[in-house]
Amino acid sequence: MAPQVSIVIPLYNESEVLPHLIARINKLIDSSPISIEVVLVDDGSKDNTADQIQALSLIDGRYQCVLLARNYGHPLALTAGLAAANGSEAVMIIDGDLQDPPELLHTFYELYKQGNDVVYAVRKKRKEGPLKKFAYHLFYRILKSISYIDIPLDSGDFSLVSRRIVDVLNKMPEESRYVRGMRTWVGFKQVGYEYERDERMAGDSKYSFKKLLQLAYNGIFNFSEFPIKLITNMGFFSISVSLIYLVYNIIKKYVYHAVPEGFTALLFAIILFSGVQLFSLGIIGEYVLRIFFQVKGRPLYIVKKRIVNKEEASPQL
Ligand code: UDP
Ligand code: MG
Repeated sequence: MAPQVSIVIPLYNESEVLPHLIARINKLIDSSPISIEVVLVDDGSKDNTADQIQALSLIDGRYQCVLLARNYGHPLALTAGLAAANGSEAVMIIDGDLQDPPELLHTFYELYKQGNDVVYAVRKKRKEGPLKKFAYHLFYRILKSISYIDIPLDSGDFSLVSRRIVDVLNKMPEESRYVRGMRTWVGFKQVGYEYERDERMAGDSKYSFKKLLQLAYNGIFNFSEFPIKLITNMGFFSISVSLIYLVYNIIKKYVYHAVPEGFTALLFAIILFSGVQLFSLGIIGEYVLRIFFQVKGRPLYIVKKRIVNKEEASPQL
């Protein structure tokens, strides 16, 4: 029989944290009246995370493991996990580093039972460096103000989503995935739950600066038309300024008989607008890139191996 709830956990080089994670989750499952399955996704780890989760899922049927063919990044590993999840009622998404307490499952499940399709965690406090905290703070606020969907502030992927939301997410073919945005996009009743985010249990963050920036870009370019509109507005603005300047110069010449001057101003204008044009091309490029990757229609990820019910299963998801 299908479990009621699946817990999906993407893992990348988490062999240090894994024993702690499994201990916490075992405790949770043992004391829970809900039937729970855990989907561990290895995102092409270079340490022995894959071996560890394979060994575990071969002896403990409550754990299934999905090994990806290489490192695809957190959003795609999560996507693979969602596709593999069998939970008939809901799926909980957590990070592998125990920053998100798995014990919140019961609270989230309770809120789900009260008719919410998405229960997302809202970070009240972050235990990260001031610079990172500030960057996150700013990013979420900018995204919220420019996005065409109402993305909740300070909430990540940590959430419990109902089966019908998971089914929709599984059907969305988006290549550049910003899962928290996609989750909001689906709709139904969604509720936030405030919690304090713990520190990473062990090891370092597996989100490199490049990956974090990519995630931020995906949030902005997949859920906002603002950058394109910005270009149009900049275009309008510079045309207006140049027209005013033209009129000003004509008056200056024919009324006051002044000779046009301003080599520096000219240079400044050329440099400024070359910059504006390159910037605009870059913005358009971001959208074009997304079209480029999307039209190729490649599978989002490749599964190398899957173990379900203590047996090797078809890697097709
Ligand atoms: N992760 C992943 N693939 C990656 C990077 C990260 O599956 O390429 C996983 C990682 O193992 C962890 C989760 O995504 O379970 C969140 O990553 P992390 O805790 O390093 O991010 P941070 O909390 O520092 O933003
Ligand atoms: Mg973390």
